Amino acid sequence: MSDRVYLNGKFIDKEKAAISPDDRGFYFADGVYEVIRCFKGNFFCFEEHISRLKSSLSKIRISYNGIDKLSSICKELIVNNNLENKYANVYLQITRGVSKRTHNFPGKDISPTIYIIANEKPPNKDKSKKGIKAITQTDIRWLRCDIKSIALLPNTLLFQEAIEKNAGECIFIRDGVITEASHSNVMGVKTGVLFTHPDNNLILPGITKRFVFQICNDLGIYVKETPIGNEDIYSLDELFIMSTGDDITPVIQLDDTKINNGMPGPMTRQIQREFFKNTYKKLAGEKNPWF
Ligand code: PMP
Repeated sequence: MSDRVYLNGKFIDKEKAAISPDDRGFYFADGVYEVIRCFKGNFFCFEEHISRLKSSLSKIRISYNGIDKLSSICKELIVNNNLENKYANVYLQITRGVSKRTHNFPGKDISPTIYIIANEKPPNKDKSKKGIKAITQTDIRWLRCDIKSIALLPNTLLFQEAIEKNAGECIFIRDGVITEASHSNVMGVKTGVLFTHPDNNLILPGITKRFVFQICNDLGIYVKETPIGNEDIYSLDELFIMSTGDDITPVIQLDDTKINNGMPGPMTRQIQREFFKNTYKKLAGEKNPWF
């Protein structure tokens, strides 16, 4: 059975979905996106994702008047694709729309292209349990990484390098500090304090990261929004990445250096457990963590 998708106001079979080659998303990557996790029919932080989507749209000056309908569309896609009892990701993309190729924005008569899909995505239990290796690379992206832009070529190029080195993520370094990673935010522990890059134009304000802040607040863990500098990168006690797709994943080796003897650290585990309680347990009824 074909996947059902939502394109410009209609639910259709994915095979029948057609987007014009004149779409500005195709020519210029002129659009933004969101990925929202659905735990057996229950969305996690839905409003937070929609609010970030609104912010991305406004930053690139796309006006889209269908925001209020997104919740029911996403729910319908979960049902239409038989994902109510599964773990799934919903992907939403909005581009400026279709018009003759010119750099300047087209007139007001074009409307944005909106495309939404839902796919099954089970948790990666092995990675949550054992952790991953990560590599570092120079952050070659632009200076508006706060916008969840569909222009992801630097991220894909650098993540591919990680894959080719048998690593699970590529951590970005700009001006001597860790910013974030190719598709996740990064936190590191040094002598009992959790460090992470502050939200600004150099990183995406992660929804999972915001949630980890709340967890740390509840657990009494002190989070310092100060970036991890070159001098500390290879002497961290613990390191982990977090994102909608990867939950909280321990990093047990950075380039050639093992972290915590190649084992997920105690603070990472504590945060993972609390995250599990608020997601897999609360929203999907899972009883036992797998890490
Ligand atoms: N940074 C980047 C570059 C990302 O692509 C992602 C994943 N969307 C994140 C951080 C994590 O954001 P979130 O927790 O909202 O998925």
